[in-house]
Amino acid sequence: MNAGNDDCLFCKIFARAIPSREVNRTDDVLVFEDVNPQAPTHLLVIPKRHARDLGDFVAAAEPREVGDLFAIASQAGRAASSTGYRIVANEGREAGQTVFHLHLHVLAGRPLGWPPG
Ligand code: AMP
Ligand code: ZN
Repeated sequence: MNAGNDDCLFCKIFARAIPSREVNRTDDVLVFEDVNPQAPTHLLVIPKRHARDLGDFVAAAEPREVGDLFAIASQAGRAASSTGYRIVANEGREAGQTVFHLHLHVLAGRPLGWPPG
């Protein structure tokens, strides 16, 4: 029911079939370093449950899973910086999504412009 997607990069990273630089892990959530960082701290926070984007995830997941994902992301942001951080979820190609397994970006360590590009 909650099986990974065999063709999904982030399912493979969660399962450690592909290595990553892990920062934190629970049974259901993994935090790891983005391979192409856009800020001094650039982490990705992913659920074990495969969902192609945020909308599909919240439609399928238990409220606890959604809450845990955001709690762990905010903890990672606060741990990275006491002066601010940003959480981003890109949904869809126009928003810049390139990996179709939900992930939250946690960005910190420099002033972050607004509006984003
Ligand atoms: P998005 O464009 O929102 O889908 O973000 C995908 C992110 O995944 C990008 O910031 C990539 O740099 C990152 N990424 C892609 N492959 C890997 C990988 N093997 N390990 C860590 N981060 C990755
Ligand atoms: Zn996946």
